[in-house]
Amino acid sequence: MNSTPLTAIAKRHGPRYNADLALWSQLEEATMTQRAYNFSPGPAVLPEPVLAEVQRDMLALPTAKASILEISHRSKTFKEILAAAEANLRQLLSIPDNYVVLFLQGGSRLQFSMVPMNLLEAGHTSADYLLTGSWSKHAWKEAQKAGDMRVAWDGADGNYTHLPAAAELKVDPRAAYLHYTSNETIHGVQFATEPAVGHVPLVCDASSDFLYKPLPIERYGLIYACAQKNSGPAGVTVVILRKDLLQRSRDDLPSYLNYRIHADEGSLMNTAPTFAIYVVRLVTDWLLNEIGGLEKMHARNESKAKMLYEVIDASDGFYTGHAQADGRSLMNVVFRLPSEGLTKKFVSEAEQQDLTELGGHRSVGGIRASIYNAMPVAGVEALRDFMIRFRDENAS
Ligand code: PMP
Repeated sequence: MNSTPLTAIAKRHGPRYNADLALWSQLEEATMTQRAYNFSPGPAVLPEPVLAEVQRDMLALPTAKASILEISHRSKTFKEILAAAEANLRQLLSIPDNYVVLFLQGGSRLQFSMVPMNLLEAGHTSADYLLTGSWSKHAWKEAQKAGDMRVAWDGADGNYTHLPAAAELKVDPRAAYLHYTSNETIHGVQFATEPAVGHVPLVCDASSDFLYKPLPIERYGLIYACAQKNSGPAGVTVVILRKDLLQRSRDDLPSYLNYRIHADEGSLMNTAPTFAIYVVRLVTDWLLNEIGGLEKMHARNESKAKMLYEVIDASDGFYTGHAQADGRSLMNVVFRLPSEGLTKKFVSEAEQQDLTELGGHRSVGGIRASIYNAMPVAGVEALRDFMIRFRDENAS
């Protein structure tokens, strides 16, 4: 029998699995031949070795002798998984001790509400928002239900193609925090560095670029990211929060919406999303052990994105990028073709080549190639080659 990743994993886990090896190798063959390069914006591609481990644990975790789906969130095995997920994140991002790491449910959308509910306080009853695309606008709109949210910058005039220059940022020094979205998943604009906000706590929605590169965590008050783009499946949202800000969470908040209670309970106030956290642990293992950390991940992300932007720039206007060059996202490459007809043709011919989920968001149109951490270099190369061929065949 070939020692492919799945059979190797099965072998590692002893005799119980050997009986299933024949079945597993069939499964594996089916999986390998059926996997397309999936450019979905999220839930999105996961690393193949992670999926193989998940497949194994669907039957039984080696330490629990039961599936990851069947064990208690208070079991020793799950508590070890939770601790390992947190330790991995702390190592990858060098998270200082004065920050807590929480694993919550409700997606990033719930954070749009939890952030203002927890961080506004007497003397800081308003917060500043940078509007750089659809997601930061959603966050701002939702936050207004909790208080007075000032727009510190709005890119609507330019149809969210660029980011604020440092001189354009006028942060209210009394703001409870400044919220921004590090990567706009729909518009494909991304901050390369944190906006300068002085002493005002910086709050970041990092949903679609979490773990794409190292971050200076000490510059942030709070970072949140749903897992289903760069760090796992749907179902868990990671929140990294500076401990002194926990004092702002009022006792009269509903318990689930109170960061301080989650911190006190170590993310186990209620039944944690066990499976999703387990996958985050595997993805962070993969980043540490197979990729070799976030510097290396960043270099790979830069070279993947460059491949596509170079084709766009060399296409004589056949492809037009949405974002201006200095705000281009390394995660979501958004571009247009000369007509709606050609866009449809592009998506359908790409699909025939097993390059899937390339249609742009309905509000922006065109094409969006989401090339998160787990998108293999070979997938981006295949898309690049397809783009070059498609242009040669269709440019007038
Ligand atoms: N913020 C950003 C930047 C996103 O891309 C998304 C999801 N596409 C969200 C927030 C909302 O996340 P969720 O669906 O987990 O609530």
